[in-house]
Amino acid sequence: MNILKKQSFLGSQRSETPLQIIIMGPQGSGKGTQAEMLARELGIRHVCTGDLLREMAQKDAKIKEAIDRGELLPPEIVIPLVRKNLMECRKGFVLDGAPRNTEQAQMLGIHIDHVIYLDIPDKKVIERLSSRLQCMECRAIYGKDMPPKVQGKCDKCGSELRHRDDDNPETIRKRLKVFHEETEKVMKYYERKRLLRKVDASGKPEEVFERILKAIKPPARL
Ligand code: AMP
Repeated sequence: MNILKKQSFLGSQRSETPLQIIIMGPQGSGKGTQAEMLARELGIRHVCTGDLLREMAQKDAKIKEAIDRGELLPPEIVIPLVRKNLMECRKGFVLDGAPRNTEQAQMLGIHIDHVIYLDIPDKKVIERLSSRLQCMECRAIYGKDMPPKVQGKCDKCGSELRHRDDDNPETIRKRLKVFHEETEKVMKYYERKRLLRKVDASGKPEEVFERILKAIKPPARL
């Protein structure tokens, strides 16, 4: 989207009000990529709870163990960390990775404009995650749909690409189970608040991105 289109997109939002967006979907739905694209497009920040917690895990072995086992961390750790980061986002944010259950949604206590749900079948998730690689330095993600230019090296910073410790089939299945049990209740929670925007997550990243922009674009004024 060019700058003129961007201005007209933002121009029709409530003036001066930052856009506060949650992006949801199972791991491998392209959530991180779409959150990055959206943040860049709208000039707002991408806040990723997985990255915040992995950073914390470097200094805390218990947190690292829970992440490697694919378990959710307690809300008393996650929510204050997320709130602190969101409150620093004066221009708005795309929150990726929380809330994971209704308890977290209720504890969040921050105004939300849209909750984007990326819809994708489990089979496709397992296929995508098994081939996913992440940069150890800048956390950029690569996969079959987005391979790096040089094998094993990050396009952005040239660092080494690796499989994440929690991207193995056993942990993926566990994470999907947790997702279906808990996150779908969160979807219903936001559906009742009329904030849920369901988007088909199949196809190329650019195609999914266009669908997202369409889903959050305010209706034209008469
Ligand atoms: P992700 O990168 O979103 O797949 O998150 C990786 C791991 O971080 C998860 O499997 C959890 O162990 C932990 N995690 C991330 N976000 C949350 C959250 N909102 N609540 C609890 N644990 C989380």
